[in-house]
Amino acid sequence: MEKNTSIECSISNCAYHAQAVDYCTLDKIKVGTHESNPTKKECTDCESFSMK
Ligand code: SF4
Repeated sequence: MEKNTSIECSISNCAYHAQAVDYCTLDKIKVGTHESNPTKKECTDCESFSMK
């Protein structure tokens, strides 16, 4: 899969990770939150994640 140089990512457990380099291979991703009032980066999630 071709890396998307606009989306850096270090989550190599994800099916969409480029593996050889720390990039996502999707054209776009969706970022969301599991919090009702997100206040720091730990509150954010990649909702496009899929376990490989
Ligand atoms: S879908 Fe999200 S978690 Fe998966 S490689 Fe792309 S940016 Fe990373």
